[in-house]
Amino acid sequence: MRLREEGRDVIVLSVGEPDFPTPVHVKEAAQAAIARDDTKYTAVDGSRALKEAIAAKLSRENRLAYPLEQILVSSGAKQSCYNACLALLDRGDEAIVPAPYWVSYPDMVRMAGGEPVIVHATAERGFKIGPNELAAAITPKTRLLFLNSPCNPTGAMYARDELAALGEVLEEYPKVAILSDEIYEHIAWGERFVSFADACPSLLGRTLTVNGMSKAYAMSGWRIGYAAGPLPLIKAMTSIQSQSTTSACTVSQAAACAALTGDQQFVRDMCTVFEERHDIVLEQLAAIPGFDCVPAAGTFYLFPNIRRAMERVGAATDVEFCERLLEATGVTLVPGTAFGAAGHLRVSFAASLDVLQTALRRMHEFVAGTSRV
Ligand code: PLP
Repeated sequence: MRLREEGRDVIVLSVGEPDFPTPVHVKEAAQAAIARDDTKYTAVDGSRALKEAIAAKLSRENRLAYPLEQILVSSGAKQSCYNACLALLDRGDEAIVPAPYWVSYPDMVRMAGGEPVIVHATAERGFKIGPNELAAAITPKTRLLFLNSPCNPTGAMYARDELAALGEVLEEYPKVAILSDEIYEHIAWGERFVSFADACPSLLGRTLTVNGMSKAYAMSGWRIGYAAGPLPLIKAMTSIQSQSTTSACTVSQAAACAALTGDQQFVRDMCTVFEERHDIVLEQLAAIPGFDCVPAAGTFYLFPNIRRAMERVGAATDVEFCERLLEATGVTLVPGTAFGAAGHLRVSFAASLDVLQTALRRMHEFVAGTSRV
């Protein structure tokens, strides 16, 4: 903000939402909802039409058969995750959070009175945890495991056999619920995306599948997410939501319904653009001295290790590196520390290729010591 006010040319590569407009037919559905005065509360758990669209989507795309009473629509997947933490965790309960993690998980766990237990996944292991690491992290206090595939911030995606291997461990611990955050499902080009509950059907009774409209349909501001899971958990989450926010925005629910039931070409086209950008950004990041970057299988993020580059520019931490980069070049990135992975940074490619190229050139010059900005 300050730099912008000073007239500096700031390039923001720290955003977590697609740089595409919401599809026209989705916006029209919202306008139609307003025109027909569809502007009052819906049932707390969501409109019947949207829940039917979600059930059909889960069946069609994820091979998951959820009856409507096992689906809860919320004001974003973030609220779905938070509802789940409040419903599942008591004081002192542990929740396993693989790192690098989406920034909100550990704080949500703490806000619900629980203790996040961080399991570090390294770049060498594709930023994914394996069965041994999972087993080592489980204690008698463990109540919840977060999984996020494809992952914000690394873009890592678990294959079916990798999910099944984690599932085998979890078979032994019936008190552990699984929250599978699948919000980047449609922004993926690696292997085929697989839902955790599809890979581990025997764990369906304690898996909460979370998804939402923000990423796949470029609808972050509409605030619609949803969760599907075991009936007692969905009921508890619905009670919590009932006393905190009631139903999600009715007009947005009509829009979400149109997105899920309408033409899906938009989703495919957007994903193609993200994949093209991914390939270009990956190549250019790899060319920056001291940047080591593994490819992503999905999302619109890359997560290079910058330890050698930090040394090169004399930055003690990734936070300092990002601050100095911003001061010197106007490029904003999120330091890996925010995601539980110091020595990295997250590059979002939810920006046009022109903007990305300029930002990458500035980053390169900053690290190479030839900054001209
Ligand atoms: N889960 C992950 C992994 C995310 O990256 C985000 C948003 O950045 C969310 C959930 C929140 O999505 P929503 O906009 O539906 O609340």
